[in-house]
Order: sequence, then structure tokens, then C-alpha cells
Amino acid sequence: MHIGIAGAGLVGRVLALNLLRLGHTLTLFDEDVAYGDKAAGMTAAGMLAVFAELESAESSIFEHGKRSIKLWPDLLDQIGISDAYQQKGSIITAHPQDYGELEHFIATLQSKVKEASQIELLDKAGIVALEPDLEQHSKAFFIPQEGQVDAQRFMKASSDYLLEHSDVMWHQQTRVDVVEEGSISYEEKKEHFDWVFDARGLGAQTQVENLRGVRGEVFWLDAPEVKISRPTRMLHPRYKIYIVPRPNNRYIIGATEIESEDKSPMSVRSSLELLSAVYSMHSGFAEARIVNMVTNCRPSMKDNLPIIEQSEKLTRINGLYRHGYLLAPAVVEEALAKGFLEAHPPQWMGRALEETRI
Ligand SMILES: Cc1cc2nc3c(=O)[nH]c(=O)nc-3n(C[C@H](O)[C@H](O)[C@H](O)COP(=O)(O)OP(=O)(O)OC[C@H]3O[C@@H](n4cnc5c(N)ncnc54)[C@H](O)[C@@H]3O)c2cc1C
Repeated sequence: MHIGIAGAGLVGRVLALNLLRLGHTLTLFDEDVAYGDKAAGMTAAGMLAVFAELESAESSIFEHGKRSIKLWPDLLDQIGISDAYQQKGSIITAHPQDYGELEHFIATLQSKVKEASQIELLDKAGIVALEPDLEQHSKAFFIPQEGQVDAQRFMKASSDYLLEHSDVMWHQQTRVDVVEEGSISYEEKKEHFDWVFDARGLGAQTQVENLRGVRGEVFWLDAPEVKISRPTRMLHPRYKIYIVPRPNNRYIIGATEIESEDKSPMSVRSSLELLSAVYSMHSGFAEARIVNMVTNCRPSMKDNLPIIEQSEKLTRINGLYRHGYLLAPAVVEEALAKGFLEAHPPQWMGRALEETRI
């Protein structure tokens, strides 16, 4: 089939990779250039925090998160960057005066999913065994199932792959105005497809009711004096931060969460909070160099849960909020299985159904 995808951000690309595997021909539309930075998927830290996110999220994201963790390695393999996936677990810690936060954190998780009872409590020796640089901390939780995708490598490698693919046409810098059943309208043209997907994230606000943006700000630091190898969070009564390691001594420090659709540069308040928190966590950050400060908005519904809307020849996927990397592969899989594959089973699936009937 010839399929149109409006929005080539995180969801659009995960969709494209899945649909190419099924043998379809694709036309992608994005208002940005293929290697641009407008997509929230390009700003994200890429954490696959299937447990830790439950502190402030519905337990329904847990099953999708577990499924995505299984699906990511194949997607990254498809675009030739299997090493952009890491599953070495993550660490959650706090300063001694905030140990109440740690207790509340684990109690919240345990009240939401029974698997949280397996999360390991580490003492100083346990912390140092995993992350010697965190020796000043004497209490932390270790979540072995969690990991990360190098989001920026995913975005770059997926651009390379899709741009070179003979079954993909990518309209860059093309703003889509309307996505309707079987058609995409842009620049006073209307193109018809066998099926269309609306994956414009926050850009779909005119067609997805109650969609809002939640501002997030992150720092990129170059910190040769710090050696942290896993995503690490610090809980605090007012601001919670995470440190996500990337190759060559780079760390992403994030992220603020502000009810605003303002994508202007980082505020002084946010920068003071993020940087003082990260410095209090590891003094080696004092001499780090600030290599980038990025702001973007997370596309979010009222309940901060993703939506899949299906109708004839049209699927809309949106509202992945702060869980795009954690949820996209599983949400896309569900969206394809729900309406699209039911309406158009690939030949092998048709055969399998026949065989089952016989
Ligand atoms: C600071 C920050 C940190 C994050 N960290 C994490 C994390 O650690 N783990 C995690 O799981 N998630 C994280 N996220 C969330 C994740 O980035 C989002 O959930 C995800 O990117 C949403 O995917 P999407 O494809 O719906 O939207 P996007 O990735 O924003 O993609 C939408 C695309 O549509 C295009 N578009 C928009 N409007 C139009 C239009 N009219 N016409 C054509 N194209 C259009 C845009 O240019 C863009 O390319 C983070 C987000 C932020 C902001």
C-alpha cells in the first residue's frame, strides 16, 4: 500500500520503520528538515524508565513500557545502530535530608505494580560497586530492568536510513494543514493514500482535542571529571533531576516540567535549579562545560496518557508526553494491530489466518 505519514518525529519514524518491514511504500511529511531539531524526539534524553516514571504516571504505561524495551533492539538493528541501546539499569538516589522522598518514591511504585517489590535498595558499598563516582551517596535504589536509547543517534540514523530507502519519499520543510481519512493536505495540495497516519505531536493541535504542550528544558554538559555510566535520578522535594550519560563524557541533565507551550530558551530559574542540583550530586560537574541548552514541549493529553484514534484509512497517535521513547514502539505496534492490520493484513498474515481456519 501507499501510506502517508504526517510528522516525522519519534512516532512518525517508529511507524515508518514498522511499515517498511511490512513491505509498504511511504510518503513522509515534516515541517522541519530531516536532520532538524524541532521534534521533541530530538530533545529527549531517551530514558526507558519503566518503573521510575510510575512515580507520577498511571500504571497503564508499565506494560507498554516493558513491551517497548523488548522492541527497541530490533528497531535500532534495522537502522544499523544496535549499540545505541543500553540496558544496564538505573539508579535513584537523594541527599540524606530527603530520604523521605526515596521512601515515598518506592511506596508509590509498589502501590502501582507488584514487580516494584523486586527493586533493590543499595547501601554505600552497593552504590560504589555499581557507580564508584557516587561514593558520597549512602542510600539509593537500583532498577536493573531500566535503560536508555541514545535519542539523538536514533534520530540521525533513522534520517539516514529513511532518506536512502527506495520505498520512502520524504517531503521536508512541508507543513501539513489537515490530515483526514485517506488524505493529507499541505501547501494548497491534497494527496490521497491507501492509509494515513497523523504523527505530528504538538503540531496536531487543530485536529486533536485537548492536546497541550508541557515545556521541558535540558542541559548538555561536557564533564571529563565525572564517570557515571547509567541514568541516575536525584529526588528532591522541589525539583527532581536526572543525569543521562552519553559517549565522550557528555551528560544530559534534565528536565524541567512546566505547564507552558513556550519553546523559548531556558530561564534563569530553571538553569539555577538544574545546575545547582547536579553540582550537589557530584562536585565534578563544577568544571563541566555547558555545550548546549535545549527547550522543547512534550505533546500531552489531559491525563498524560497516549491516544490512538482509528477510523477508515486514518490513524492518529499522540500524547506520548514524557514517555515517547518508553512507549512509542509498543503504542505503534498496538495501533497497527488495532485498525490498520485488521483492514489490510499482509499476505503472510492472510495465509496464517487461512491455515488456522483449515
Ligand atoms: C526535555 C524532554 C525530555 C524528554 N525525555 C524523554 C525520555 O527520557 N524518555 C522518553 O521516553 N521520552 C522523553 N521525552 C518525550 C518524547 O520526546 C516525546 O514523548 C516524543 O518525542 C513524542 O513523539 P511525537 O512523534 O508524538 O512528537 P515529536 O517527536 O515532537 O514529532 C512531531 C513531528 O511532527 C512535525 N510536525 C509538527 N507539526 C507539523 C505539521 N503541521 N506539518 C508537518 N510536520 C509537523 C515536527 O516537526 C516533528 O518532527 C522527552 C521530551 C522532552 C521535551
